[in-house]
Amino acid sequence: MEAIEYLREMVEIPSTFPNEQKMGEYCQKKLESFGFSVQAIELEGGRPNIVATRGKNPTLAFMGHMDTVPAYGKWNTNPHQLVEKEGKLYGLGAADMKGGLAAIFSALEKTDSPAMVVLTSDEENNSAGSHLLVSRPKLFEGIKFMVAAEPTEHGNKEGSILLGRRGRAVYKVDVHGRSAHGAHTERGINAIEKASELVLALRDFPLRKNTEIGSESLFVREISGANTSLSIPESASFWIDVHLVLGQDAESECTRLQEFLQNIYPECSVGIFDRGLPYNMPFYTPPETPEAEILASIVREVVGNTSFSHGESVADENVFAQLFPAVSYGPLGRNYHSANEYVEKESLINCEQIYQKLIKK
Ligand SMILES: [Zn+2]
Repeated sequence: MEAIEYLREMVEIPSTFPNEQKMGEYCQKKLESFGFSVQAIELEGGRPNIVATRGKNPTLAFMGHMDTVPAYGKWNTNPHQLVEKEGKLYGLGAADMKGGLAAIFSALEKTDSPAMVVLTSDEENNSAGSHLLVSRPKLFEGIKFMVAAEPTEHGNKEGSILLGRRGRAVYKVDVHGRSAHGAHTERGINAIEKASELVLALRDFPLRKNTEIGSESLFVREISGANTSLSIPESASFWIDVHLVLGQDAESECTRLQEFLQNIYPECSVGIFDRGLPYNMPFYTPPETPEAEILASIVREVVGNTSFSHGESVADENVFAQLFPAVSYGPLGRNYHSANEYVEKESLINCEQIYQKLIKK
């Protein structure tokens, strides 16, 4: 079957997290029909993750997430039906990332070389699926390189291979003031006021720069503090969402933030916000990695050009890149995480050809 046919079937199976089960069953059945032996490793609530292998000692793994975000916004077509218009294929997940999955499936069906396929749930949420899988590294013995089929839209130009992605961590800042009667503001220290000063001071936080995967960035995602009686609030908190670059990790960044903020107002403390799962750390696969060079030469052959780039935000690749070099290469798409998501038909066909050639090498 061609990639577009797989994509049509996949778009018709709603898989907005946490409801990936039907999509998991579909993928398992297909992979088995391509000669794969499939291990289903479930998250709580029957949410599937799939590790499938074919042939002897595969070294190449394809990766994709089976979940989508909900259908946001106002669609011009039914998001659960693939609609073709002027070379664009519209549907929820068409780009992110059922297009990539469809290209993988079609390429696998037309080849018989050894390969591994890793499919996850919860990528659009907390990457719980990929964190579960990397906690069992034995599953991936022998794998030397992973290609994630995430869509690319860099400069809206086809052929771009993402060699890395920024990481991400969230921090909670607790700010302590001193309560006093609300009629005597001079006797107290208003924690909300101090928290506000700290939030604004973050505009001058020295952000790290990287040539490989871009620069660090941050934003304040939440702030809270209250006193319902006639007293000056003595505590307030705010949360900072940070995109990390190479050389940074969640702990060292916590220290940096704390030093910066305490320098402005000592009565505050910074901690890593516990989301119940590790955060996805930054990664980078050097372009000289032999498998990346092979992929680049195939992309050049099929598309006519290639370039190296990086992803701005986190994805499952960040998690798997702890185990082996990983890159993202998928079909060109637009409007993911918003209405009227689509993947370019020609790019989907090219992508399937690229995967086929890669599997055979
Ligand atoms: Zn995605």
